[in-house]
Amino acid sequence: MEFPNELAKKIFEISGQNVYSCMQCGKCSAGCPNVDFMDVTPNQVIHMIQVGDENVLHVKTPWVCANCLTCTIRCPRDVDLAAIMEAIRHLSSLRAGIYRIDLNKVGKEGFPQIVLVAVARKYTL
Ligand code: SF4
Ligand code: SF4
Repeated sequence: MEFPNELAKKIFEISGQNVYSCMQCGKCSAGCPNVDFMDVTPNQVIHMIQVGDENVLHVKTPWVCANCLTCTIRCPRDVDLAAIMEAIRHLSSLRAGIYRIDLNKVGKEGFPQIVLVAVARKYTL
């Protein structure tokens, strides 16, 4: 598959998602429960990738994304935006070995197991 920019190609290779399927309808952002805490809305994230803007690798949004899949379910073009957020986390930090949390230092606070699993997937390799 041909892509007009390297960023969109890398996102496709990691997530299997073609950002050019997105028609910028905004349904993903309208339903996102965490959008108020994001610096760039989910549909803007897609747009940045569409135009090859690598600043998308430095925005807060993918780290605020809770992987709730609401956007993925709402998208009329079957874009799996949650998978794209994961791809951005990989490209921006995880594949560079930048860890947000050291699991060895996570204490005995008694987190529910599911929280630890989610954190392990999102913030570490
Ligand atoms: S809901 Fe889908 S098509 Fe609409 S802006 Fe979001 S990703 Fe693009
Ligand atoms: S998966 Fe992330 S971007 Fe999508 S609706 Fe949930 S929190 Fe928002």
